[in-house]
Amino acid sequence: MASNNSNRAANPALAEEVIESITQSFLSDPPSMAFLFEIRNWELARLVFRLQRDDIDALAADNPELEYALNLQLQELSIAETLIADESFAIRAVIQYEEEYRLAVSIAQNHLEAEAALLTCTGCESRFTRHQSYKAPCNHFYCMECLANFFEYTINDESLYPPKCCGQEIPFEGMKTLLDNKLITRYAKKQVEYDTEATKRTYCSVSTCKGFVPASNTINEVATCPTCGKRTCTICKAAAHRGDCPRDEDTQSLLSLAKTEGWQRCYNTKCHRVVALTTGCNHITCVCGAQFCYVCGARWRTCDCPRWNESWLVDGGDRPRHAGHRLFQPPQD
Ligand SMILES: [Zn+2]
Ligand SMILES: [Zn+2]
Ligand SMILES: [Zn+2]
Ligand SMILES: [Zn+2]
Ligand SMILES: [Zn+2]
Ligand SMILES: [Zn+2]
Repeated sequence: MASNNSNRAANPALAEEVIESITQSFLSDPPSMAFLFEIRNWELARLVFRLQRDDIDALAADNPELEYALNLQLQELSIAETLIADESFAIRAVIQYEEEYRLAVSIAQNHLEAEAALLTCTGCESRFTRHQSYKAPCNHFYCMECLANFFEYTINDESLYPPKCCGQEIPFEGMKTLLDNKLITRYAKKQVEYDTEATKRTYCSVSTCKGFVPASNTINEVATCPTCGKRTCTICKAAAHRGDCPRDEDTQSLLSLAKTEGWQRCYNTKCHRVVALTTGCNHITCVCGAQFCYVCGARWRTCDCPRWNESWLVDGGDRPRHAGHRLFQPPQD
């Protein structure tokens, strides 16, 4: 409104024309000028208001009545100007309020939309955005903390293995990008342990360690602890020892059978095969290359046992047509 007025006032031709017409109406009927205020023709009123006292003096130089009327008009218009200012202030206030209201509404709507876009963690009921969450195969969402807890708890409780939601396994693959590296490493280790049949697991025999020793660290019933480096017998679970394990039932029963049957055993500790001679001489050449006496088990030619034992000779000839013996390999695992 104000800028319109100043624009029009800045147009000298228009201003002069309007002032002229107002002047004419002043001259013809001064008291009726209050119409400007009454009909709330603020624009025109503002223009008239611009007629300064000097102009009024000049305009009504010879007419005291006109001067009085114009001054009166000026006062009324001054009041009107104040009212206009008040009104535009009120309008501005309303507009501003409406704008602020609209802004508040849109902020509230955005907030509601954002809130609606949030997901709820099935574990802790916290709210988070999609990219901060994990969707389980059962379509339940979990926050990163609860997801980590699935694996953390499973590390400490085998009955939870593998971690599940709604009976569906939460696959460990793909967790590398979501979970902490240390947790990934600890869980991967635990997974090897859980995936090993319970009766076949070997834990370090060192009481202060007791770490799980994976099959990949085991050679010939000796498990080397990846944590402390100490060796454990996978059969008796005690510290690794030389010779046959007293708890190795298969070997023990074979050895007792060998004793009853009079079978001999290869002296080579890395072989220890049991040999049953069916025919032939007492000179045994084991598959491992060791040569020993079938009677006493000593290395060949280190004992005084007979080279032949007549009772074992089946064909009874001067020399055997063929010698034969069976070999028993003690079970390796
Ligand atoms: Zn959670
Ligand atoms: Zn679920
Ligand atoms: Zn250990
Ligand atoms: Zn043992
Ligand atoms: Zn041998
Ligand atoms: Zn001998």
